Amino acid sequence: MREKHPGSLFITMTNAKMKITAVIPAGGSGRRMQSSKAKQYLLLQGIPLLVHTLRTFQESPVIGDIVLVVPAADVDRIQSDIVDAFAMTKIRRVVAGGKERQDSVRNGLAVLPADCEIVLIHDAARPFVSPALIEKAVDGALREGAVAVGVRARDTVKQCDGAGRVIDTLDREQIWMAQTPQAFRRVTIVAAHQKAQEDNFYGTDDAALVERMGIPVIMIDSIPDNIKITTTEDLAWAEHQFSTRKL
Ligand code: C5P
Repeated sequence: MREKHPGSLFITMTNAKMKITAVIPAGGSGRRMQSSKAKQYLLLQGIPLLVHTLRTFQESPVIGDIVLVVPAADVDRIQSDIVDAFAMTKIRRVVAGGKERQDSVRNGLAVLPADCEIVLIHDAARPFVSPALIEKAVDGALREGAVAVGVRARDTVKQCDGAGRVIDTLDREQIWMAQTPQAFRRVTIVAAHQKAQEDNFYGTDDAALVERMGIPVIMIDSIPDNIKITTTEDLAWAEHQFSTRKL
């Protein structure tokens, strides 16, 4: 069914050539990190966190192009300091992010290459994404049209009010924690972001924007380490993880 051509930018499925673009939102200011530097630039094994994430996409045979979204003030310097310095040849565009993550992703979607048909969105702050997970998400999008990776709930999940009073105990069997990568047909995710902007709706992930259009999103199992670096403790944990792996 699916043929992979090493070195090619395409996946071939039932004779249809699909060009796949990764949009990497790295436009946050890292407010929760208690650091003067935005978290995507903090060093892990001496290399910016963002570069660890980008490398996996640069090396993935299923990814054709990368659109990188960074804070507006950093666009020029990122071209030399990241794209050129680390030979990220798949990065076609570096664009300015917006106020919220959703605004940043929308800015990335606005500059997709003309021939891109599948878009995979992945947070720069998740450096442990693996080549296999990227392929799984792309395969899912080719088959289903819209997928998100995530982990199934292991604990019992309580829905509470602001005072911590339990409103409901949710059926654990139906609960997933969504992560990135999330992958979509281009037409679907572009329309979903457009509609959200028209309605001034902000969701906490891209899949939520697709769901509110009535389009099914399928969850697929993530890998254990695919955490989002949010706090200094996460960064210390990531440093430890990287030091025990080969880079
Ligand atoms: O802030 P949070 O950890 O949820 O951000 C997830 C990802 O979205 C990060 O990679 C961050 O850089 C990015 N982001 C963005 N534009 C914003 C806020 C966050 O691209 N305005």
